[in-house]
Amino acid sequence: MTAVVVGGGFAGLLAARILADHYDRVIVLERGTPSKRRTVASQANHLHVLLQKGREILEKLFPGLDGELAAAGAPEIDWGKDTAWLNPFGWAPQFPTSIRTRSCSRTFLEERIRERVIKNHVIKYLEEALVECPAFSLDGRRVSGVWYRTESVRHFLPADLVVLAHANQNSLTEWLGKIPIEKNEAVVGYASCRYQLPPSVLAGSKQLYVQLAPPLRPRGGVICPVENGEYIVTLLSCDGKPGPTNELEFLKFSKGLPTPRFFEALLRGIPLSPFYRYQLSKSSWLKLGNASLPEGVVVIGDAVCSLNPVYGQGMTMAALEVEELAARVLKGRTWESGFQKAVDELLRVPWELAGSENKVKGLGLKKRCSQLIFQHALRMATQKPKVHRSFLEVMHMMQPPIRLMRSLVGLPA
Ligand SMILES: Cc1cc2nc3c(=O)[nH]c(=O)nc-3n(C[C@H](O)[C@H](O)[C@H](O)COP(=O)(O)OP(=O)(O)OC[C@H]3O[C@@H](n4cnc5c(N)ncnc54)[C@H](O)[C@@H]3O)c2cc1C
Repeated sequence: MTAVVVGGGFAGLLAARILADHYDRVIVLERGTPSKRRTVASQANHLHVLLQKGREILEKLFPGLDGELAAAGAPEIDWGKDTAWLNPFGWAPQFPTSIRTRSCSRTFLEERIRERVIKNHVIKYLEEALVECPAFSLDGRRVSGVWYRTESVRHFLPADLVVLAHANQNSLTEWLGKIPIEKNEAVVGYASCRYQLPPSVLAGSKQLYVQLAPPLRPRGGVICPVENGEYIVTLLSCDGKPGPTNELEFLKFSKGLPTPRFFEALLRGIPLSPFYRYQLSKSSWLKLGNASLPEGVVVIGDAVCSLNPVYGQGMTMAALEVEELAARVLKGRTWESGFQKAVDELLRVPWELAGSENKVKGLGLKKRCSQLIFQHALRMATQKPKVHRSFLEVMHMMQPPIRLMRSLVGLPA
């Protein structure tokens, strides 16, 4: 039995890892090379937080990964104690919690995962292999393989299972026909650079997070420690204006933030990388649970749903989807349609959450209510450590949103 994974990015690598336990051969087709991938997945130069839930899943899939990251100097962050978090209503109280992540750059994390995946003798990872389309049986009911190209040569690769993890929603509709789609307006600009900063520049905290608070405060940013004692500084905006692209502009932008701590830290820093920008105008979710896909095709990662990145959910969602894949893969011939429904269910809460950030106008009653509750939770998180803790647990996908509701009305967890 052969499984083909289209796209050797974050979701594709995790999928390959679990499929190798169940298939005789797993072939990953990646259009880039390790060095070209960085320009392909252009978001990789920006801050990427792996939420606590994602950290837990990754450690199960790749035992010892967390220790390897730690040995490379990737610090552990306690989101209660170590994060100076200025939310729209003030500073959140800092105290020890069990919400902890391992902080490193996206490229560093992904390379460590890729190294482990390609060591697995069941997996073949082909680079510069551009998938043109999946192929189907004559009646169109079942996948039969994929067509891909290396340089100018076209190849057909037969497969029993094709996992589409190539983060391209446009090609999905081309390949699989009409799929219901939901969109959220999410105007977010990212501008990032690696920095060297002096020790204790954040005065006892390990990271500084100035949250966006539209419409009054459409600018924010994060100073986040990563491997090798360096920092990634990411500036955020939702005013639609192009983000800064050099050191002077970075300083100017940070001077306009509602705390001098950001600017003062950057003033003492040295930029170590180019300045990268990324502009996002919407997030979209292909509701594949409502589509009838041919047997033997599953879709994961950003190919299903690209979430507003400010909540740092994308990689953890991919990990949760792969966990679901692992649980279902042995269930027989027609497990795939149930799989996409389960993915839709996993996405429901993160989608709601990520959609409540920017919009102020044109929301339906239900969404407006969730947004008001969310705003109330943010306010209470600055006043009540218990609410702050619950907020973090929900944001890191360790607890369902009801946990936060209970803490808001003073009920025990
Ligand atoms: C600015 C920004 C910041 C973000 N911050 C965070 C964060 O803090 N935390 C978080 O969890 N998530 C974050 N995300 C989201 C995260 O980047 C994605 O959710 C994640 O990369 C999804 O993984 P993926 O494997 O689906 O896609 P990708 O990682 O993009 O991988 C897709 C792969 O498929 C390959 N490919 C594409 N087409 C083909 C083809 N036809 N043939 C072969 N290969 C192909 C590409 O080369 C690529 O390697 C952020 C996103 C952005 C834009």
